[in-house]
Amino acid sequence: MTQLNNPLEIYKLLPKLNCRQCQVATCLAFAAAIIKGQKRLNECPHLERTIIDKFEGKIVKQITYEQQLEKFLEQLKRKIPAIDFSLSAERLGATLSGNKLTIKCLSKNYTVDHEGNIASDCHINVWVAIPLLNYIISSAGSNVSGKWVSFRELKNGMKFNPLYEQRFEKPLKQIIDNHIDLFEYILYVFGGKPKDTSFIADISFILHPLPKVPILICYSKLENNFESKLNVFYDTTAEDNLSIESIYLLGVGLVTMFEKITLRHG
Ligand code: SF4
Repeated sequence: MTQLNNPLEIYKLLPKLNCRQCQVATCLAFAAAIIKGQKRLNECPHLERTIIDKFEGKIVKQITYEQQLEKFLEQLKRKIPAIDFSLSAERLGATLSGNKLTIKCLSKNYTVDHEGNIASDCHINVWVAIPLLNYIISSAGSNVSGKWVSFRELKNGMKFNPLYEQRFEKPLKQIIDNHIDLFEYILYVFGGKPKDTSFIADISFILHPLPKVPILICYSKLENNFESKLNVFYDTTAEDNLSIESIYLLGVGLVTMFEKITLRHG
């Protein structure tokens, strides 16, 4: 056996006593915890040392998407020292102070030092930190065109569209459906600017989650039995300045933040 990559293969090694001395209800649950990296073989006191030594190094742990993102964030941080901040501020629409870049995200300041550490008065989660560092590393600095397209119409949009619909569009629409007045207020607080569009909408706002990656949110209320409608648009240059995965992550970061605010104030 070369590798152990599922709980059943680990379960076969265990004494199957279900004695709970490993602080887990059953041997099978213990095996599942090992695959997730939450337990180690030596936490079962009944396992022989020879078994532990033979198999511990052969366990392939499954990591969650969030854990993958944390790893990715660490990789991005290691690339930051190679970026010349003084040459990058204009490209990014940022300001330079000392050796730190300050970037406005939703009208709030996020300051990044040369080790990739981010400081802000706002909560920083991995969904926001990855797009922010990716923006610093990879943005071409293209100026916005003022032409709007949907996520699906971006060059690589279809790759992430199922996730994007599930983790961004659906929950965002639900938040606005349930808290339309509060949502409009949130848009103002985060520097949203009302926009006239050719779309018939009750709410049309431009937000800047990153200086050169604006998004346009258009929402029409439920009326005369017609379902409410949400359309979110991106500038046609969006992918010049941010990878499609980071555009998706940014959306999830926004929804996570809006959810927290509506839970607190809704
Ligand atoms: S201590 Fe070992 S035998 Fe007991 S439940 Fe945990 S894994 Fe099973």
